[in-house]
Amino acid sequence: MRNKILDILSSSQGEFISGESISETLEITRAAVWKQIKNLKDAGYVIEGQTKKGYRLLSTPCFLDQWALKKELRTNTLCKELYLFEELPSTNEYCKDLVRQGASHGTVVIAKKQTQGHGRMQRSWESPLGGLWLSVILKPSLNLGEVAKLTLSTGVALGETLRQLYDIPVGIKWPNDIVVEGKKIAGILGEVVGEWNTVHTLILGIGINGNFPRNALSPDLPATTLQDILQKDIDLNLLARELLRQLEKEVSSLEAGDSQGLLRRWTGLALGIGEEVIIQRANQIFKGIFKGIRENGELILEIDGQEMNFSSGEVSLRSEKDYSPNQSSRK
Ligand code: ADP
Repeated sequence: MRNKILDILSSSQGEFISGESISETLEITRAAVWKQIKNLKDAGYVIEGQTKKGYRLLSTPCFLDQWALKKELRTNTLCKELYLFEELPSTNEYCKDLVRQGASHGTVVIAKKQTQGHGRMQRSWESPLGGLWLSVILKPSLNLGEVAKLTLSTGVALGETLRQLYDIPVGIKWPNDIVVEGKKIAGILGEVVGEWNTVHTLILGIGINGNFPRNALSPDLPATTLQDILQKDIDLNLLARELLRQLEKEVSSLEAGDSQGLLRRWTGLALGIGEEVIIQRANQIFKGIFKGIRENGELILEIDGQEMNFSSGEVSLRSEKDYSPNQSSRK
């Protein structure tokens, strides 16, 4: 009923619609219409009501709302199925269950908050109310080597989305932290599920620090939020829509075989290329020039004229300036 009222209100393109006509169309009482409108206002919809004219929809909520998110969604394959929860332990874990039940390509799961969000290697990912905590199930037409590149594609989609919507100086810190002025604003966790020899299913978890203040996160994290940067709340539904659109574009481009395009876009957003960086692998420290990445996502480090490759699972990258040496260094 709620969605039907929203459909009616939005179809009038800003004109007033009488409560009577809504009640007739939906075969409910005027009081029931009034109650639904009140609920919608409580949910953040701005609806003007005038005694003689009726109601008109002025704006949709900033915070996550299924109808508002789907209303102007411009994707063809992503988000055909959308699950939006008040709270989940982890959207990636929920997706794993959905995959076991045969969920299809493009299914999206969003939680308004996560209680057990995680990053790589089970590090915890703090996910308070106000952020965008989203996972997408992908079953792309790609072989396993190519599927792994989708985390790079996601970094590009995120970087492009944040730049285009908010004009902020975001960059990608290899392998896939999304950073503004050295502070993490979003993270990506790609997990391949299922049998290695069947259709490869990838769960892409994306977390964006949106409408909450920096101090909602642990003080020791080098993190920032969109609210802190922009000094206002952003429309999380618009953010989700645009992100999914950009992601769909990136998936199609990889499926069309354009790895070079991905590499170019990724490099365009990457931080630290051409600079001296430090790579830590277990207890070893490597210092060299960050030359870029290979098609498979490996980082290329030039040490004394020799190139070394590092894959993201095993190492962490730091720029020389924020490295405080407290361990023995190899170079
Ligand atoms: P990395 O590879 O950079 O260690 P992950 O992508 O695995 O990171 O993300 C987990 C790490 O991100 C955590 O160990 C923590 O340091 C940091 N972190 C956790 N929650 C947030 C958040 N909401 N915003 C920014 N950083 C966070």
